[in-house]
Amino acid sequence: MSTDVQADVAVIGAGPGGYVAAIRAAQLGLRVAVIEKEFVGGTCLNVGCIPSKALLDASHLFSEIKRASVFGIQVEGASVDFATMQRYKYQVVKALTTGVRGLLKRHGVKQLDGTARFMAPGVLDVQSPKEPSLTVCVDNVIIATGSVPLALPGVPFDDNVVISSRRALELETVPDRLVVIGAGYIGLELASVYSRLGTEVVVLEMMDRVLPDMDAEVAALAHKLLGQQGLDIRLGARVIAVDVEGDSARVRYSVKDGEAAVEAPFVLVSVGRCPATDGLGLDVVGLEVDDLGFIMVDHGMRTGVPGIYAIGDIITSPMLAHVAMDEGIVAAECIAGRAAAMEYDAIPAVVFTHPELASVGLHEDEAELRGHNLKVGRFPFRGNGRARARDDMEGWVKVIADADTDVILGVHCVGPEAGHLIHEAVVAMGYGGYAEDLAVTVHAHPTLSEAFKEAALAVDGRPLHI
Ligand code: FAD
Repeated sequence: MSTDVQADVAVIGAGPGGYVAAIRAAQLGLRVAVIEKEFVGGTCLNVGCIPSKALLDASHLFSEIKRASVFGIQVEGASVDFATMQRYKYQVVKALTTGVRGLLKRHGVKQLDGTARFMAPGVLDVQSPKEPSLTVCVDNVIIATGSVPLALPGVPFDDNVVISSRRALELETVPDRLVVIGAGYIGLELASVYSRLGTEVVVLEMMDRVLPDMDAEVAALAHKLLGQQGLDIRLGARVIAVDVEGDSARVRYSVKDGEAAVEAPFVLVSVGRCPATDGLGLDVVGLEVDDLGFIMVDHGMRTGVPGIYAIGDIITSPMLAHVAMDEGIVAAECIAGRAAAMEYDAIPAVVFTHPELASVGLHEDEAELRGHNLKVGRFPFRGNGRARARDDMEGWVKVIADADTDVILGVHCVGPEAGHLIHEAVVAMGYGGYAEDLAVTVHAHPTLSEAFKEAALAVDGRPLHI
């Protein structure tokens, strides 16, 4: 077998996990090749985090313009040119993905366009429609192939009527109606985008709550506020069938007292994502996956096969870009012989609806289940001067601390800029901080962050502005 490319590390997949792993490995002096079959930047930059946030920000601006008269600003005839909005999104994606290619180049990472599969441990075959196939021989491989949308059993995606988040981000026009199956964060974010642009959106969720991965109180408030914004969220709605006829579908679902149906030109199925291992040849190298197809790793991202690491959506950790990136750093450092390990206790999670929902650490019921005595401090944004100044007062901050030790166990926030604000709690928790640490920290006035100080003060029964 001839070797076309030789390196210390090959990274399969150039999503946020893969490209960050490649850059960090190169920084550590390793010779690195990254192999990407479709788009540098992966799901996150091309069809996930970034395009969804571009559309969320653009559609939120439209909502704000429509209520500008609250601030004494009169805007006549505001309307949406969706083609231009989509072009704007595309330019954001293009700038960032081009930037990542540049970063990889600057760090001396060899970029190979093609689909990789294992021939043996340390030997990869790379096939590309445009280039001759390559054999890559390396000491270490980092698998970072990400995930793909999960279809509902018996309801395949057709990209025309039954669509995944990827297609939902690329619609050419704003539809009159949209059915979203699944009230997780991807479903609710996309539902928000289209609802703000004028689409009548029905969200079907089989569970008795939205956002099963968030604190229950956060989810309940999100449900209420999104409902007030016009989303028709139907809980306990288990989809039985999606009957596509021409350019429209009838979604039949069961509810407690019978059956119901809803029709729309688009049905966004957003019921989760599954690890992308197809065609990788994991069996060739004896790499096992769990029942759901995820690769199992230790805290250094090592799989059971020496020299093979796995990171990102392909393993069982939270399917989030920032998790994938940090796992990439850990894998690269372990390969370079450093003592690195991934810690999962203080991982922030954000839902970019309006208001934003942000969370770190244990949910209140999880903390109770683990046997902690809890002290919980809450502070509403209506008591915060800056939230009032921007007329954006829905939501609160909740700090959950251990009653015996005062150690922060979790912090949850519904409110303006919650996704930015949560990071003071993330840092505090990362250092094993106490609620009192947040409470005695001087926060600039007038900022939204003062609500975090107040919630921490409330843990000890001494909030000032409520
Ligand atoms: P990916 O980003 O999926 O990248 C994997 C790459 O591997 C892909 O480019 C793929 O083409 C390539 N690949 C696969 N197989 C092969 C092969 N055999 N050979 C070569 N290349 C291969 N996360 C957040 O943290 N915040 C958000 O706001 C957020 N919003 C999201 C919105 C949407 C609509 C979606 C779908 C996801 C969102 N996510 C968000 C999740 C985030 O995108 C993923 O967690 C993240 O992209 C995972 O990174 P990764 O590197 O593991 O995989």
